[in-house]
Order: sequence, then C-alpha cells, then structure tokens
Amino acid sequence: MLLTDKIFAITGGASGIGRAAALEAARHGADIAITDIAPVEAAAPLLREIESLGRRALYVQGDVSKPETAGAFMAAIKEELGGLDVFVSNAGICPFHGFLDLPKEILTKTVEVNLLGAFYMVQAAARMMVDEGRGGSIIAVSSISALVGGEFQTHYTPTKAGVLSLMQSTAIALGRHDIRCNAILPGTIRTAINHDDLSDPTKAEAMMARIPLGRFGEAEDLAGPIVFLGSSMASYITGASLLVDGGCFVN
Ligand code: NAD
Repeated sequence: MLLTDKIFAITGGASGIGRAAALEAARHGADIAITDIAPVEAAAPLLREIESLGRRALYVQGDVSKPETAGAFMAAIKEELGGLDVFVSNAGICPFHGFLDLPKEILTKTVEVNLLGAFYMVQAAARMMVDEGRGGSIIAVSSISALVGGEFQTHYTPTKAGVLSLMQSTAIALGRHDIRCNAILPGTIRTAINHDDLSDPTKAEAMMARIPLGRFGEAEDLAGPIVFLGSSMASYITGASLLVDGGCFVN
C-alpha cells in the first residue's frame, strides 16, 4: 500500500486514464476526489467501487477550463475530505484536425482545457498544499506529443509541451514547500480520446509498428506510474518527465 490514508485528487477521473488512476490510488489506501465535466451518473459505478474498498469518494462535476472550478473543487476537498496530499491534472481533449484549416474554436478550446485548465487546477492545489504545510505531490498528464510532432495535433502538442514545462517550473517554485511536481507522458493508450483513430486499421497498424512492446497501452498501464509518483517511493523525484509509451519514443 503506497498511499495509506492519503487524499488523492484527480481531474478527468470519470473515464480512461483518470478513472484507472483513481481506482488504483484507492486500492493503495487513499481517499479519492474526482472532478470531471461528465455528470456524476457517468462516474457512479467508479465511486461505488472506491467505496467498496473502504475509501471515501468525492465527485464534483466541473469544467477545468473555468477558473472557478478549481476553487470549488479544492473547497469541497477541504470540507469533505479534510486535506490534499496528491493532485493529478489529467483532464484533456484531443480533437484531431488538420493544420491549415484548423478552426479557431478548436484551437481555443484545446488550449483552454488542456493548458489553462491544468494551470488553474495545479495553482489551486498548490495553494492548498502550501497552506496545509505538509508537502505533497503534483502530477500532470502530458503526452509523448510534448516531445514529438503530430500532423493532426498541431493545436494539441503545444498544450502538452506547456503542461510538461509547467511541471518543470512548479517543481522549482514549490520545492521549498516539499511539494514535488512531475509529468507523465503517455504514448498511445486505448481510451475514448483516440477511439476513432485506433478504430481505423491502417492508422492503427502504422502506430503499432512504432511500439517496441508490440501493443497499445491500456489506461491501467498509467495507474501504477501515477500512484508511484504520488507516493513516498518517489520522494526525491521532482521536475521529472516519465514516458509511459511502450518504448515508442526511442524507436
Ligand atoms: P478520456 O477521454 O477517456 O478521458 C478524459 C477525461 O477528461 C474524460 O473523463 C472527460 O470527461 C474529461 N474532460 C474532458 N474535458 C474536460 C473539461 N473541460 N473539464 C473537466 N473534465 C474534462 O481520455 P484519456 O486518454 O484517459 O485522457 C486523459 C489524459 O491523458 C488527457 O489529458 C490526454 O491528453 C492524455 N493522454 C492520453 C493519451 C492516449 O493515448 N489516450 C496519450 C497521451 C496523453
């Protein structure tokens, strides 16, 4: 058990990587707070599963791109769970689109959710951790796309590079408060976000050919690394970027 009696909060926890990480953190003994734009009904089975493990589960519906969501989420965590030890900024969107004809609305929305949303949330979580004075761990889910380009992701890759950079700068800003900040960089993981791309056999085959481990990742492949970075096992790791990509980047 790596997170016994810790309080673990995550954005975008209603599905995919966030859902798997929340469940794994509960299995490791943490109480769980989730915020997501999805209605609570979408997360009801997950919340029941967390509670069946003997852990508390808090759900706050909200849009991370609205600055007020961060304050409301932190206030609910403080009131109902009593503090914050691990915070994971995970909510994100990836609407695939070509570059030359990219509508401004898609660009703006992607930046607002992925980059500004991460900033608002990380800042609010850090303020709470500093106020409480017991340190903490902040993890942001960036992407392998922070390091490599993507023809149909020209609006997405800069947001993920921004999130990676945010973790490097906050690692410096928050180190004196014993708050560690790290980025997780998933490769291709089979979740709703890229369901359409992976359903296209030609695209899927080309993507698979680049993965030395010979399979796409599952959401659960990210859960262990997130729990590890949140735990005291990673007590001297801050400002780091952890690729979880089946070896894709080095191929
Ligand atoms: P997902 O679509 O299953 O999960 C994303 C979650 O974020 C959903 O529950 C969704 O409701 C929530 N969300 C979306 N917009 C939101 C908003 N404005 N406010 C609050 N919640 C919002 O996809 P996933 O693959 O689990 O994605 C999780 C993170 O992992 C994202 O940041 C994504 O960019 C990143 N990532 C995914 C992959 C992959 O291949 N799946 C690769 C690299 C990075």
